[in-house]
Amino acid sequence: MFSDLAEQLRKREQQGLLRQRQILESPQANHISVEGCHYLAFCSNDYLGLANHPQLIEAACAGARQLGVGAGASHLINGHSVVHHDLERALAAFSDFPRALLFSTGYMANIGVVTALAGRGDIIFADRLNHASLNDAALLSRAKFIRYPHLNLEVLEKRLASATARRKLVISDAVFSMEGDVAPIPQLIELCERYGAWLLIDDAHGFGVLGRQGRGSLFLSNDGKHHSPVVIYMATLGKAAGVFGAFVAAQPEVIETLIQSARSYIYTTATPPLLSQALLTSLQLIENDEWRRELLAQHIAQLKQNLQSLPWKLLPSDTPIQPLLIGESIEAARISQRLRERGILVPAIRPPTVPQGTARLRISLSAAHQPQDIARLTDALYELAA
Ligand SMILES: *Cc1c(COP(=O)(O)O)cnc(C)c1O
Repeated sequence: MFSDLAEQLRKREQQGLLRQRQILESPQANHISVEGCHYLAFCSNDYLGLANHPQLIEAACAGARQLGVGAGASHLINGHSVVHHDLERALAAFSDFPRALLFSTGYMANIGVVTALAGRGDIIFADRLNHASLNDAALLSRAKFIRYPHLNLEVLEKRLASATARRKLVISDAVFSMEGDVAPIPQLIELCERYGAWLLIDDAHGFGVLGRQGRGSLFLSNDGKHHSPVVIYMATLGKAAGVFGAFVAAQPEVIETLIQSARSYIYTTATPPLLSQALLTSLQLIENDEWRRELLAQHIAQLKQNLQSLPWKLLPSDTPIQPLLIGESIEAARISQRLRERGILVPAIRPPTVPQGTARLRISLSAAHQPQDIARLTDALYELAA
């Protein structure tokens, strides 16, 4: 039994695929301490720099003093605290849906929504580059699972037109996590309405960052929100919101169905109420501090401008996820290592996470970065390319 596992691990190592955790010794920030060394980091999803914000820390401490540390029970038994409830109301209002439901993580939210809404005899249509949690959810649901080429709505439409299932569910990342590009949400909504399908939008990387006041990818249009009752909106609270958790917002019938039958909602302990307390504060900062998004936009523009003459090209992205396409896995790993030796952390993303031959450096920017941080990364990349 053990030698079988050891053999598999050895193979993984030989292929350069053995993954290792690095021990972070500081809070998440633009400057971090890892295993005794200081680094300038471009790896986190803390896009607004809220993960270590004093007001959030204070709210979490106040929450702990008032309501304790652990929820002690699931939501349906008696773990549903008044602050969970307040946060759900605030999130529904902020994302402009009638109701919202908190989940422990985005992974669990996706599993819960997809398995509650689709089952044997139903069909799920999914963008090929969707997040792993959406793929796992589709497989777990036992519905027929059809993946369409990235952003290819022509193929999606053909498949929708020929589908005869009772229930159809289209699922897509709003901002693709390894590309940084954005799904054509208005066109997806239009297709789903035309063919009677639900649309699950995973806005893990858009919530807090995109749209008016950071309300997310559904608010990217100038004239308000992309509205439709077929949309089921999922966003995470451990990325731009800086804390932990996720929520789903949708029509009341959908939310009530999730409460009754989403297994990853029902059969798990509610998150510590102190996290909801911190998130209520986070939501206020997201809504009011426009300057964080303005700063982030400046960093994105500066990076794109600076890297124009590099031999490696940035993928087309206007979001804080700025992937630098390298190609070969070994080369991407080498550049990431050379940057590390210069005190800069940028992760190399390799197959199977991304398609063969498209290994990349995934640069993620944060409002917590300074212009000189971007300049330092730029200089290092030009040195390595020379
Ligand atoms: C991070 C992420 C998730 C998972 O969210 P967690 O709260 O970290 O579990 C889901 N979908 C996408 C697109 C993500 O990037």
